[in-house]
Amino acid sequence: MTFAETIASARTQNRTLLSEVEAKAALGDAGVPVTATTLAQTREEAAAQAEAMGYPVALKVVSPNVAHKSDVGGVVLGLESHEEVAQAYDEIIRSVQAAQPSAAIEGVSVQEMAAPGVEVIVGVATDPQFGPVMMFGLGGIMVEVLGDVAFRLAPLGEGDARDMIDEIQGRQVLDGVRGQPPVDIGAIEAMLDRVSVFAAEHPEVAELDLNPVIASPEGAIAVDARIVLAEA
Ligand code: ADP
Ligand code: MG
Repeated sequence: MTFAETIASARTQNRTLLSEVEAKAALGDAGVPVTATTLAQTREEAAAQAEAMGYPVALKVVSPNVAHKSDVGGVVLGLESHEEVAQAYDEIIRSVQAAQPSAAIEGVSVQEMAAPGVEVIVGVATDPQFGPVMMFGLGGIMVEVLGDVAFRLAPLGEGDARDMIDEIQGRQVLDGVRGQPPVDIGAIEAMLDRVSVFAAEHPEVAELDLNPVIASPEGAIAVDARIVLAEA
């Protein structure tokens, strides 16, 4: 499905929130590195998709009503076999139904596991006056508690992505702390640039969150993606 088709289908269903699977497909087409992600609607389908993708995989609930998948037991990481995937499928459905009985569950996404690294956040918000605004920060408490983030208008100009990265207070975490190797800063820059072009080219995108992007010495890849469309 093209992004235009995804938007049209969301419009006919009167929804503005795209699923993680839809958001990653659109971003992947736009050249943003995302983990390979497919939608499974039975445990057998999940196991077959995992087998085709190669282990380890992650499984996550796909529901238009679940904003934070891990809060409702909707994320299981590092599955290594057909049996583990089939079990995790059932476990996710059970946990989400117990935690949020009203949630409509479309299925479970099967995705490749990203290599370990530093979790960062790339986002786009729409300012009523200035249009799309890019956001960058370190993942987890750095953003949520400390508000250590950098903003720039989209599309980013030459050098803007690098300036955003250098501006955050936790910058040195990306150079490697506690014996960790430095991450690929150029890959984060490229991700910011591509997301900014995507946002500028698609004014129907009101909000976009890649939370987290995992940055490592080998590159940067989005493992979670959320897109909210502007009201039609
Ligand atoms: P939530 O809806 O709770 O934000 P996420 O998709 O972000 O769910 O998953 C929760 C956490 O699991 C992420 O912050 C990340 O640490 C880890 N994670 C998720 N997907 C992957 C993946 N494909 N590879 C590696 N780690 C992952
Ligand atoms: Mg997330």
